[in-house]
Amino acid sequence: MRKLLLSLTALAAVMLFACSEAKSDESAHERDVFAMDTFMTMKAYGSGAEKALGSAEDRIHELEDELSVTEQDSDISRINSAGGEAVSVSADTALLVEAGVSYWQETAGALDISVYPVLAEWGFTTGEYHVPDAETIARLLEKVNAGAVEVGADTVQIPADSMIDLGALAKGYTGDEIMAIFRDNGVKSAMISLGGNVQALGSKPDGSDWRVGIKDPFTPDTNMCVVSISDKAVVTSGNYERYFTGDDGTVYWHIIDPKDGYPADNGLVSVTVIGDSGLRCDALSTALFVAGTDEAQTYLREHTDVDAVLVTDDGRLLYTDGIADKLENVSSMPAEVIARD
Ligand code: ADP
Ligand code: MG
Repeated sequence: MRKLLLSLTALAAVMLFACSEAKSDESAHERDVFAMDTFMTMKAYGSGAEKALGSAEDRIHELEDELSVTEQDSDISRINSAGGEAVSVSADTALLVEAGVSYWQETAGALDISVYPVLAEWGFTTGEYHVPDAETIARLLEKVNAGAVEVGADTVQIPADSMIDLGALAKGYTGDEIMAIFRDNGVKSAMISLGGNVQALGSKPDGSDWRVGIKDPFTPDTNMCVVSISDKAVVTSGNYERYFTGDDGTVYWHIIDPKDGYPADNGLVSVTVIGDSGLRCDALSTALFVAGTDEAQTYLREHTDVDAVLVTDDGRLLYTDGIADKLENVSSMPAEVIARD
């Protein structure tokens, strides 16, 4: 009898241990990082989560050191100050510059990683904002041409008087890299936000979709809609993220139209792209913002691998059919579905 009691106690202890271990597997592990000029939050579940978050944080800093346009010995700074010579770069840098050049082709020049000198002249890199005069913009635009960027296996070469910046792509790629680290560590459920670039691994631990709020560009402290997703990136480019009001009362924002060197003002104030690749979603959110209401819809009709939510400057919400039954419009804006085959 006593023996039975003892073994029952032992069994109970084992069960308790097993339960608490299963329970701790479900708990959220969180990590906040400030990098790439933005706040990043990561939340991961499962026994590999803590280790995964540590590796993810290291990877974020590694990528920042390679890709930053302001850190003096980053790959990008060395490319920009090489006076036209080829520069040896990391595999990450080569991949991203190459991606930048392909998206320039794919989006008819809307995404142009060499628009940086124009962006800097407006003060968007330093916060010392001013409206440049037309001659200055015209002179700087002569140097803007992603077609002149040459990428080798591990080298990048740009003309002596031009400069590149991967601000439109870097966070998306970082998100993909973090997802890969999570997967390698056995994490099956995670959610990250890299300054508004949201990326989800799997679904929530209870099996339901993640619910991601998308900001209302007219009142950025409130959401305009909520999308339910799993295993997707949700990336937004908005005119409310970095902007200033000029002496003329006009609002100028940080996404530049490479066609004229002014903040892109082609009918859209916010573009969210939803898809499998963070890099693709990031590149396209910026590019479709520049492309504007009509061209963005044309692009989306031809590329059904991604979904998108567009907001027009006259307050309409347009979203693609693939996300229609996963999107809840919580704004007062009228919504239209962009139908595709
Ligand atoms: P954010 O970085 O604010 O989340 P985006 O992904 O849209 O938003 O990227 C905007 C950044 O991309 C700018 O801060 C600038 O560095 C760069 N950029 C601005 N206009 C362009 C453009 N037309 N092509 C490529 N990069 C751009
Ligand atoms: Mg982008």
